[in-house]
Amino acid sequence: MIKDAADFIAQEKLGPDALDPKLDFQAFKTAVASVKRNAKSVLMDQQIIAGIGNNFSDDILFQARINPSVRMDELSASALERLFLTMRKVLEAAIVSGAGSEEFVTRMPKGSLLPERKKGGRCPRCGSLLKMFKLGGRTAYCCPNCQNC
Ligand SMILES: [Zn+2]
Repeated sequence: MIKDAADFIAQEKLGPDALDPKLDFQAFKTAVASVKRNAKSVLMDQQIIAGIGNNFSDDILFQARINPSVRMDELSASALERLFLTMRKVLEAAIVSGAGSEEFVTRMPKGSLLPERKKGGRCPRCGSLLKMFKLGGRTAYCCPNCQNC
């Protein structure tokens, strides 16, 4: 499973892999901190960091409690660090859960946004109805209460 995920990321590779050990916080910060676009689009930009799709960008931002619409260059250093650590945690959990298989969403750790990422879905943390909107042409889900979106 880990090999499959790595192959998939390798095929799509343009920017450094999100889980590449060489992508430490400093490298992440260098890659994203000055990009004047919304956080979700930057995370999903395969030329900046490879391997983060639409669903996972939502879960990462949710776990980091960051509004997907906020501009990456306007995040504080502590928010950027939280985003980096959360990115690692969510993608590692996805690999362990067998990302790519049909039922992996149900095996994600408790509190994952992924099973709720649907019309009428609720925040796994506070129970609010999730907000759904278009951002950079992609569908974004976020909790208006936890992420101030
Ligand atoms: Zn919430």
